[in-house]
Amino acid sequence: MKIGTKIIHNGHGIDPYTKGLSIPIYQVSTFAQESVDHFGKWDYARSGNPTREALEETIAILENGTHGFAFASGMAAISSALLLFSPGDHLVVCEDVYGGAFRVLTTLFKRLGIETTFVDATDPANIAAAILPATKGIYLETPSNPLLKVTDMAAAVALAKSRGLLTLVDNTFMTPYLQRPLELGCDIVLHSGTKFLNGHSDVICGFAVVRDEALAKRIGFVQNAFGAVLGPQDSWLVLRGLKTLRVRLEESQKSARAVAEWLSEQKRVTEVFYPGLPSHPGYAVHNSQAAGPGAVLSFKLETVELTRRVLETVELAAFAVSLGGVESIISYPAKMSHAAMPPEERAARGVTDNLVRLSVGLEECEDLIADLDRVING
Ligand SMILES: *Cc1c(COP(=O)(O)O)cnc(C)c1O
Repeated sequence: MKIGTKIIHNGHGIDPYTKGLSIPIYQVSTFAQESVDHFGKWDYARSGNPTREALEETIAILENGTHGFAFASGMAAISSALLLFSPGDHLVVCEDVYGGAFRVLTTLFKRLGIETTFVDATDPANIAAAILPATKGIYLETPSNPLLKVTDMAAAVALAKSRGLLTLVDNTFMTPYLQRPLELGCDIVLHSGTKFLNGHSDVICGFAVVRDEALAKRIGFVQNAFGAVLGPQDSWLVLRGLKTLRVRLEESQKSARAVAEWLSEQKRVTEVFYPGLPSHPGYAVHNSQAAGPGAVLSFKLETVELTRRVLETVELAAFAVSLGGVESIISYPAKMSHAAMPPEERAARGVTDNLVRLSVGLEECEDLIADLDRVING
């Protein structure tokens, strides 16, 4: 079965009790037990809730994993996965990682004795060079945020496997519809489900997905012990949003391609970052590991003044944090997703003050381009 069909037919489209074409919201925290000696499948909803379980099994099926875990946010999923590591452990992380992941690694996990080296992961040799005797994991985002840099996952996995390291991949920008890192040998897939998976800018949630049974037990332990779980109402909303993942992403991707091509032809746009453009340095690698370039792109403008005008006066893209909604969202990495990063770190990564990130939504593409044209060339 193709992934687009699996999104609809994955065993969680029908309520097993009533045959309703939607899994009910089990708005419940605890479950009555019949015997002192044998507790039922459900006991307390931090450990498990039927609505959350339907969502967790769905994301596991879509990522071609065996176990999915739903968390209260993408950061809760990332932090819970990082709790697999111990004081003295070292991680190699791609340098333009999501700002919140950078923050949690360089503050809370650093304080807990987990050290991180950030590298330009577009060249696997840089990953190899950063591996120390204490290294326990490689953490990647591909394409990365906000510069859409591409990492060769198979090359990273080969390095990780030869040294017994875990490979973690934040797959938020691609979703399993376009890219499935577990199939390439990665160990843990992470998501901000807040973005394309839910897709409607109305839920904060996150996921971790694995294939390995022992790893699943360890993450399941953290999920229950640390307790940053997704509630049943939000689980249901994500189940609903997921049903249209394929059509949303296909349509947004088609427009993103057209917008990226149009932007590349504009004199006042100095650089466009989109893995769907043949000029993108990661184009070939990306095409070898993903089914499409996705719907997020970024670009640099001639001046900071023009950058501000674009952000504040474009009408068909909300000037906001986040991405992956039905509405286009335009954001300013320097002051939004990467505000948590010190200015010198930002500059070193190319997250400059004239950089804009655009998540293309479901508006008609001609209208989006006309709107951008009005502000950029007006
Ligand atoms: C938004 C985002 C996160 C964090 O997710 P939240 O749901 O906001 O906690 C992590 N990684 C990427 C790539 C993101 O875009």
